[in-house]
Amino acid sequence: MSRKRGFALAETQLASFDRSTTARCHVQRPDRYRLLEALPADARRITRGSGVSFVGASFAHDSVVQEMGAFDRLLEFDSAQGWLTVEAGARIGDVTRFALSRGWMLPVVPGHPRASIGGCIAADVHGKNPARDGTFRQHVESIELFDPQAGWMQLGPNEDPDRFAACFAGFGIPGLMVRARLRLVPAAQAYSLRSIAVANLIEAADVLRSHANAPLLYGWHDGRAGRFGRGVIRFGLEAKDGATGKHRTHPDLPESIAPWPITAWNRIGISIMNRWIRHRQFAAQQVPTAAALFPLNEARGYFAGFGKHGMNEAQWLLPHASYAEFVSALEAEVRRLRPRISLIASKLFEGQPTGFSFDGSGIALAIQMPQPRQREQAAFIESLTELAILHGGRPNLIKDSSLEAAVLPRCFADFDNARHALRRFDPAHVQESAMTRRLGL
Ligand SMILES: Cc1cc2nc3c(=O)[nH]c(=O)nc-3n(C[C@H](O)[C@H](O)[C@H](O)COP(=O)(O)OP(=O)(O)OC[C@H]3O[C@@H](n4cnc5c(N)ncnc54)[C@H](O)[C@@H]3O)c2cc1C
Repeated sequence: MSRKRGFALAETQLASFDRSTTARCHVQRPDRYRLLEALPADARRITRGSGVSFVGASFAHDSVVQEMGAFDRLLEFDSAQGWLTVEAGARIGDVTRFALSRGWMLPVVPGHPRASIGGCIAADVHGKNPARDGTFRQHVESIELFDPQAGWMQLGPNEDPDRFAACFAGFGIPGLMVRARLRLVPAAQAYSLRSIAVANLIEAADVLRSHANAPLLYGWHDGRAGRFGRGVIRFGLEAKDGATGKHRTHPDLPESIAPWPITAWNRIGISIMNRWIRHRQFAAQQVPTAAALFPLNEARGYFAGFGKHGMNEAQWLLPHASYAEFVSALEAEVRRLRPRISLIASKLFEGQPTGFSFDGSGIALAIQMPQPRQREQAAFIESLTELAILHGGRPNLIKDSSLEAAVLPRCFADFDNARHALRRFDPAHVQESAMTRRLGL
């Protein structure tokens, strides 16, 4: 521990959720506003919310990690209009439970309930149906931010709109967000969930497009050769009577999950899991809203099963026009290289791409794989990246640890402008993480 100017730094080993990146870091855990200002203005740093990004987005070995866990208060709630002001370290699961108990909800929540509000803004996360509800930016009215050089500032569509916009998918570069004012919508008390079986990823896209208005809409698919894309599209509509019957409540998924000593997702494990998912997802059920929003609370064993070698999630958004061709090329690669894909998730998007945000119009596929460094697995990930770029795909930077700086200008036509739009707020590269460095942001 070192002490200067009233702040303390602890030395801690941090790891990304996918286990690809680890670093011994100096961590500051401020619990008062004056401590946020206490680091020397030129000290290299990065803000950390809950640290549940798949990639190393919230730490670097030579950046002070400013962890926002103590800034988790819900500050102001307007129960008539649905406005909620929260500190940036508040977790999305806690915010959701608070809002639901008062008849409101955030329409966009990511899969991990411990993601912080700051992390949801900095990654511009999407929820259960981005085609209907957009991304997190659509539901944030204003942000209070601390910049080490310029000090405190209020941001909104009419107050420093360029920096406000840069905070979304800004990965911490435009400064440390301390508070945000969120716009809630009236809540559903329960959802009626249904599953539609699909034989492949082309059928999946048709079902997603024809259910674009469902509040919950996503698919799970088999990634094995011979069964590639077979799975279910899950969609949820607001339950008219709100009744849910018996439903087991699972605790929130932990921030870090101890890996099992072996990798469960070998070919046999993958086969058993896919059969189980397919069978289980067919039952129609009425479930409480919180459970419908955070189905991954039941997936602790799934993530532990990747073992100590971790996983990779490559998530690409493919334009509608090239989606079918991409899927058929990908299936051919799966037949040729026989990778171990534990699961594929599908979602529909109908937004506007901006900067480095994961948004646009098309179908997103998230491909999860165990042991990404193993030769055969790595070869497939490389091939997937090339195919996705060839078909105009847009990657999700906050998820995929396999991406390197060299490929980014090929994924984002306006790469230099997008990078400049972020770094103009931090030209001295004071805010840096392992991810921003790997990607050359
Ligand atoms: C199991 C799982 C499921 C997921 N599901 C989804 C999903 O459905 N949709 C989706 O879009 N994403 C999803 N994600 C990704 C996740 O929501 C994002 O990575 C999110 O940013 C994590 O929030 P966090 O608080 O842990 O952020 P961290 O990992 O701590 O940080 C992420 C980024 O936000 C920045 N940041 C955090 N707080 C602040 C702040 N106060 N001020 C400035 N910058 C800040 C960090 O510097 C970093 O760049 C999932 C991740 C996991 C592991």
